[in-house]
Amino acid sequence: MPLPVGHSLAGYLIYLGAEGEVSLRRWKIVLLYLFCANLPDLDFLPGLLVGLPNRYHHGVSHSLGLAILAGLAVVFYRLWLGKGKLLRSFSITFGLYFGHVLLDCLIADTSPPYGVQLLWPLSSRYIISPILIFPTVYKANTSGAFLASLLHPGNLKLIGVELLYFLPLVAAAQFVLRRRPGRL
Ligand SMILES: [Zn+2]
Repeated sequence: MPLPVGHSLAGYLIYLGAEGEVSLRRWKIVLLYLFCANLPDLDFLPGLLVGLPNRYHHGVSHSLGLAILAGLAVVFYRLWLGKGKLLRSFSITFGLYFGHVLLDCLIADTSPPYGVQLLWPLSSRYIISPILIFPTVYKANTSGAFLASLLHPGNLKLIGVELLYFLPLVAAAQFVLRRRPGRL
């Protein structure tokens, strides 16, 4: 997994593209985008409870099937609220969730199974990109040491790489949106 910094910046990029708005005035909506962009990594929680935080990480939580389910959950919630724009809501939620999964295919993985169950339920095979653009995440295998392990200096390097990739894209997207004709 890229760290929440990278996933959040990717989520913010999708926010800029989908909402076409640079202002953080609708900060609750922005937070919702960032939450969905990090949602697959909630798979650490059941593992933390059983003392093995990585146990369920990168399994079916990181798959096409769960991305579709996340999109459908939002669709049904909006239907329950009597709101429309269902296809748009599905597309954005799916994009945020599956975008996270695809980014996780691009990170160096140091322990088997390598990669994520990208195509579940079509295939249970773990898949990783042949080209890896993110260095590995340092994280302990036990719940007691997990949070402290995230402060490993190697993770600071990973944050640096994530900022290097995403900040220019965010700046470019904001630049384009600010210069749109007809913008107030
Ligand atoms: Zn992840």
